Amino acid sequence: MNAVDLIATKRDGGALTGDEIRWLMDGYTVGHVADEQMAAMLMAVYLNGLDHGELQAWTAAMIDSGRRLRFDDLTRPTVDKHSTGGVGDKVSLVLCPLVAACGAAVPQVAGRGLGHTGGTLDKLAAIPGWRAELSPAEVHERLSTVGMVMCAAGPDIAPADRKLYALRDATATVASIPLIASSIMSKKIAEGTDALVLDVKVGTGAFMTDVASARQLAETMVSIGEASGVATRALLTEMSVPLGRAVGNALEVTEAVACFSGDGPSDLVELTLALAHEMLDLVGLDIDATEVLTDGRARATWNASIAAQDGDPNAPLPTAAHRHVVRAKRTGYLSRLDALAVGSAAWRLGAGRARQDHSVSYSAGVMCLSKPGEAVEKGQPVLELHLDDLERLPAALQALQGAIDIEAEPPPPRPLILERIA
Ligand code: URA
Repeated sequence: MNAVDLIATKRDGGALTGDEIRWLMDGYTVGHVADEQMAAMLMAVYLNGLDHGELQAWTAAMIDSGRRLRFDDLTRPTVDKHSTGGVGDKVSLVLCPLVAACGAAVPQVAGRGLGHTGGTLDKLAAIPGWRAELSPAEVHERLSTVGMVMCAAGPDIAPADRKLYALRDATATVASIPLIASSIMSKKIAEGTDALVLDVKVGTGAFMTDVASARQLAETMVSIGEASGVATRALLTEMSVPLGRAVGNALEVTEAVACFSGDGPSDLVELTLALAHEMLDLVGLDIDATEVLTDGRARATWNASIAAQDGDPNAPLPTAAHRHVVRAKRTGYLSRLDALAVGSAAWRLGAGRARQDHSVSYSAGVMCLSKPGEAVEKGQPVLELHLDDLERLPAALQALQGAIDIEAEPPPPRPLILERIA
């Protein structure tokens, strides 16, 4: 085979065989297929898509570029959740301990944030001492004792994806449903979970801004999961408004931990319980997670999991040196608080990174003191910006221009869970 023929086939709208895709992916992983050839192939896929057979073969080749973990000897069933990313999305921090406390094992390989959406690993890294990197043996040991891990992907989890993702970033080929779906699912399948629930976000703060594209992405990922022997479901959930009130690493950890004592924001608790219900149902555990969330069991699992990754669950979290409030310009009801603008402001304050090798501030972020539907008085603080570096303030305020609407009447309530795809 040669790469030029395969690129020409895909460029002209043809389909590649499983053997051709495997040859291409193996060749790219070891360096026999050059970056410029893979870049051309990615653009051909971006423009012409992948059919069902190609998509399965593409994902399988990415999984087989590394190692697929197996936890067959655990006494608990394994189940995980993946979110396509949103603003204030700290669900994993509450959900993984909750589902583990209900009797499942959660082997969550998580990511760092890029752009305006935060990453679970950056949030957890705000906890003094906590470590993201675990060896496969440590993952196995934590799953058998604590029932969960949240950790970084090891170098042998879908290494082809790491190379391909960087190339997609540099060639304007990230926003392709088959490429996103195969990228996400290759890592989730390789992490060794038996079952998976996908939280596909829709709205201004999400990858997918409309329901039709989110549905297509969800259906594509569910079909990949099922074809690979992983029981998979998806929820499409609202992401035009930040989830909860906290956006930023340490601020989000504090808000997540508050859920264990019944003090979490209602939207975060509702979504966490809906995802927990789907996860437990997929692995046949008939337990009401509502009670487990606040009766001390989920908190005990959280504490144990943080300690098992060398963190101190009781240590004070970093706080920012400066705060700045954004006030309501009139009296009425908050009718819009744009997730993208709030996420971008938190990012500009230092909570996120522009490149994978940049560091983040753990203390920076935005607290949403008011959310849509709530009454506000003129001059009342609506947002509280947390920052260490005052030079970052003007850019954050610029990102918030036009982010807040206040009307005389309360807006109609918006459902948080838009669709369920099984
Ligand atoms: N997350 C991933 O892991 N891959 C993508 O392509 C997009 C989001």
